[in-house]
Amino acid sequence: MVNYVKKMELREVEVTDHTEIICDCCGKLIFPIQDNDERKLDFRGRAKYYHARSGHHDWGNDSIDSLEYLDFCSLECVHKQLDKFYKEDEPYSDTAYFEIEAESTPEK
Ligand SMILES: [Zn+2]
Repeated sequence: MVNYVKKMELREVEVTDHTEIICDCCGKLIFPIQDNDERKLDFRGRAKYYHARSGHHDWGNDSIDSLEYLDFCSLECVHKQLDKFYKEDEPYSDTAYFEIEAESTPEK
């Protein structure tokens, strides 16, 4: 459980300190939003993107080490990654999970 707490603290630091969000599938810059970005922005100038949490439960308490946080610029990239994740994971895990949440980029 100590491990788990440490990981969560690390994540907090990553989230609050980040100045850039990059798509883990295609490498596109999600934030800061560039002038030539074609995504629709909301009234606060934020764009929608997707945040995922993936991992598996195969290692008991150590499964926390399989946890990965990923960001995606579009649903297309989510689908690509999801396909890859389950194909690659198939021979190795029956407990793999891939949880997706829609998010908005921070305000400029
Ligand atoms: Zn992408």
